[in-house]
Formats: sequence, structure tokens, C-alpha cells
Amino acid sequence: MTTARVLKQWTLILGMSLYALGAGAQVGAAHATPVRYAVSLAGYRDHVLRVQLELAAGASSQTLQLPVWNALYQIRDFAQYVNWMRARDLSGGALPVHELDKSSWRVDGTERGAVVEYELFADNSGPYGAQVNQQHAFLNLAEVLAYAVESRQSPMQVRFTDVPAGWKIATALAGSSDAYEAPNYDRLVDSPVEIGTFQEKDFEEGGGHYRVVVDAEASDYDMNRISGDLDKIVAAAATWMNDRPYSSYLFLYHFPHAPGGGGMEHAYCTAIDLNAEVLADSPNALLEVSAHEFFHLWNVKRIRPKSLEPIDYTKENYTTALWFSEGVTSTVEDILLLRAGLMNESNYLQRMGAQITELEQRPAHTIQSAEDSSLNAWLEKYTYYRQPERSISYYNKGDLLGVLLDLTVRENSHGRASLREVFQWMNQHYAEQGKFFPESAGVREAAESAGGGDLKSFFEKYVAGTAEIPWDDFFRSVGLKVERRSVLVADVSFVAARNFDASPSVLSVKAGSAAAAAGLAAGDTILEVNGHAAASDFESRLESLHPGDTLKLRVRNRRGDRELQWKLGSRNQIVWEMKDLDPVSGQQRARRAAWLKGEAQPAGETERGAVRFDGTNPSEARP
Ligand SMILES: [Zn+2]
Repeated sequence: MTTARVLKQWTLILGMSLYALGAGAQVGAAHATPVRYAVSLAGYRDHVLRVQLELAAGASSQTLQLPVWNALYQIRDFAQYVNWMRARDLSGGALPVHELDKSSWRVDGTERGAVVEYELFADNSGPYGAQVNQQHAFLNLAEVLAYAVESRQSPMQVRFTDVPAGWKIATALAGSSDAYEAPNYDRLVDSPVEIGTFQEKDFEEGGGHYRVVVDAEASDYDMNRISGDLDKIVAAAATWMNDRPYSSYLFLYHFPHAPGGGGMEHAYCTAIDLNAEVLADSPNALLEVSAHEFFHLWNVKRIRPKSLEPIDYTKENYTTALWFSEGVTSTVEDILLLRAGLMNESNYLQRMGAQITELEQRPAHTIQSAEDSSLNAWLEKYTYYRQPERSISYYNKGDLLGVLLDLTVRENSHGRASLREVFQWMNQHYAEQGKFFPESAGVREAAESAGGGDLKSFFEKYVAGTAEIPWDDFFRSVGLKVERRSVLVADVSFVAARNFDASPSVLSVKAGSAAAAAGLAAGDTILEVNGHAAASDFESRLESLHPGDTLKLRVRNRRGDRELQWKLGSRNQIVWEMKDLDPVSGQQRARRAAWLKGEAQPAGETERGAVRFDGTNPSEARP
């Protein structure tokens, strides 16, 4: 998952926001009567869903579980929204329902089958939520559908009833509006459902079928432009992976005017929200999040760490691999945009500088490793944890580690292999075998097997450890260096962070500053910045301010909303920027073209030996 990243420069250290999660695509034994769900939208005006679940005949009592987490690595206890639950036998007699803990129930007297019914409030917008209202319904089904513990591997069927007139249904699930089907619960809930009056466009690319579904105001987007750009992204991705493990894929979009925004990956679709104003100002923000979520169909959905399987819907699945599953997905997101011609080299290097700045500026980079940051993802819902002194972002460091791994594998293999071969190796050795990879050790094995040389030290120092990264050593081979520069920037005098698609909250305010004098306080939620919704471009909006500018915020706390404004002072800040070496050799230029443009690497002389222009090492080349 991710929030849309808008091209950033530097300034503030504002927290991370993104996240991921997936549901295993492992198909269980297809047997038994399908578990049947019916979800009624009759209460859509009041954000109320009524769910009916038919339990097959069998055990004399059955346990129902509603997941405590889904779509984000955060415990959210969806049972908080269950208003009531009751059960009856097939002749209509009431059956006792006992609550076992906050998210599970036991129904007795089910030996001849039973019907369970419950009512649920659903008004969390965005790709990580479940919502029904007068405009539409968007449902992550794990937040709505309780499962019978014994039947999680059984085939599933879901119907949507009392759908308002004129509303259509879009989902990657098989079936039709009469009933949708999935081979088991995990697959069922990995397919969000949009119900409403959306617009739709289809396209074919390389033998795959793609559906683009947009639920937004018509004047806020250009469907042809979106689908044209997606066509380039999916083509670049399938070519890069040399694979297309689906026949059909669905892009679901919302462009709300409210704050928020983000994307969620699924095996056969993605759901993405982007603020309409951000879309208008920076159309590339949509391509970035789309490329990221699309690549997740491999990385995390199919190339999946062991630690995320089987999914435990009752508590955390702890994983140390998010630096790879999320961060390196961001690395590849940029590679795909470059390959698709949707990003240029200077943009790419500017983003890299911003990423390095973000990591270097967070004091926690010396105490929290990429693996530990992954493990602690479950703490990211807490404000304090997101302080720059407390944590780093596995997106941020993972993204950079992906770049460094790519350069290292290229160097060690004399240009014969790259990050692409690492992913293809993992795809063949794990995803296509139905196996899950053993965290960082699995990535290391893949990179070494792909020809990346001995990577023990790389993984120990930078993945498991917190050694300072010698950037110039990594970038020298492509004729680049990283320069530190002190720049005068606007001093907003506060630190804020967003939790995914939520509005940013203020973590701290500098004592004695104009911000403090204006009344800003830790704990305030920021709703608007200079009249614009505090959406996914919140950080870049603040970063674009200059010393002397006036900053107007609309903020909220327990006592209500207020408007604050003050004039920004200035401060010096160190930024890290990518610069050409002086001079850049022809060989470095050629390696950079191979890295960024995908051109065959004319490696020539390397520190470790000669490589021919076709990329083969003469000592190994056959006559
Ligand atoms: Zn992601």
C-alpha cells in the first residue's frame, strides 16, 4: 500500500504514512458447500450494512471471527462496528450466540445448519476502509464479513442485496451481480467491492484485460489519459517481470475532495484514492501510486514473505520484510515509470536526493534498522512512534536499499544481472512454486543466485544493521555522487505526520516559535493548509513555502476547529542532492543508461574484469 507521494524536495521531516498488507492467494481445498453471504445495502443512508451468513450443517457449535486487521498493518478491531448479532436454525428458531472475546462469537445448535445475521456500521472512506453512503459503497470485505473458523478454506459466495436503483458493482471476484465467488475466505476478502454509479473503461495490453473504474466527479479526471498512462505502466511491468500472472486486472479509483488518499494492493486489483486537487496539480501522483500498487501484484501478493502466511486475522503477523515488500516496491515503481516514459532521469535523481534527505534527517536512522522498522509497522498507528527520533520509514529506507541493491548486483555481475533478475528469480523460485520467501535471507539468496556476488556485508550493515550508508561508494559506478548542501528554508516550527489516509496530526511545536504563539499545539489535527485540504500532498505543500510566507492552518482538537496563521521565519537545513561526478566517464555514462533506461549494459572495463558489450563475460562466453 502507499499514500500517493507527490514529488518532494526537502524541508520538514514529516512522518511516513503508507502501508501495506495483503491476503494470501493460496487456494485451499475446494470442497464442501459454499459459505453463503448476503450483504444488504438497505441502510445505505445511515451507513448501515446488514449481513446474513449461512452456516452449513456440521458441528453442533461454530465459532465466528471478524478480522481485527486488514488492508493496513494495524489492529483496528472491526468488531467495534458490529451493532448486534443473532442466529436462528433453519426452521426459524432462535439459537444462542455467545461472545467469546471482542471479535469472536460462538453459535450453538448449528448441527443442521444455521443462519447468522448481524448489523454493522460502515463509514470509513478510502482504500483501507469499508463505507456505505448515499454516493456509493466501497467495501474491504474482511472488515464486513465474519468467517466461520472451521470453514475458512471452503468456497465462498457473496451477494449484495437492496442495491439502490442505478448502482452497478465492480470487483475482481468471479461471478456476476447475482453472486460472486471465491475459492476460500482469503481470496474473497482480497477483492474489494465498489458499488455505485462509477464510470468505466477497459483496455487490452499484451494479452491481458484491464478495467479502470472511477467513482468521482466527471470534471475531476480524464479517463482516456488515465487509461493511456496505465497501459504504458502495465506493459512496462509485464516486460520487466517477463510475466503476467493474471488474465484480468482491475484499477478502482476515487478522487475525493476530502483529505486523505492512498492505495491498497490486491492480487487482481488495486483500490486508490487521490484528492481531486492533488490529481489536478500533479497528475504524476496518480501514476506513482498506480505503478506501486500494480507491482505489488508480484511483490507481496505473490512474492510473499513467509511471515505473512497464513494470515492471522486475530492478531498481528509480525514481519521483518516490509523494507523489501513495500520499500523495494517503491524502487520498482520508479523504474517502471522511467521505462514507461512517464518520468525523466532528472526527476528520478531529484526524488532520490529527497529520499536520502528524508532518511539522513531522521535521527532514528542510527538506531532503527530497516528490518526493525518493518517489525514495528504495527506501532505506526500511534502518534509518538512516528516521531523522527523514534522510527524510520521502511518505505523510505527500503526504497533506497532497492536502489543500492540494484547497483551492487549490476556491479558484482559486471552488468549481467540487476534488480530485475532478483525479482524474476524470486518469482520463479517462490511465487510460481506456491512458496513464500524467508524474509531478508530469501532476498539475499535471490540476489546472490542472480549473480550479485557475496552480499553478506550489505545485508548485515544496511538491512539488519544501522551502519551509515556510504552513498558515494554505491553511486560511483554510474558517475554520481551525493552532495550535502545547506539551504535556507521556511521554518514552519512544527512536526506533523499522517497515519495513512488520515489527516496529519501535529507531533510537536517548537517552544517560543511563531507557530506556538499562534496557538498551534501538539495533538492538533490539521484539516487545511492555506485553504487546501491536508491531503497526500500535505508535506510537499509545506515544503514549497518560503521564508516570509504566511501559513494559514485550519486545525481541530477536542474543543473544536480553529483557524491559525503566522508568518514563517527561516532556518538552515542540510539537503542531500545527486550530482554528476566531474568528469563522468563514458563507461559510467553507459552504466547509468543501462540502470535508468534499461539499455544493454556496455560494461567494458570494470574493476573486476572485462565485460563485452553484449553483457557476457569473455572468459565465460562460448565460441
Ligand atoms: Zn505498498
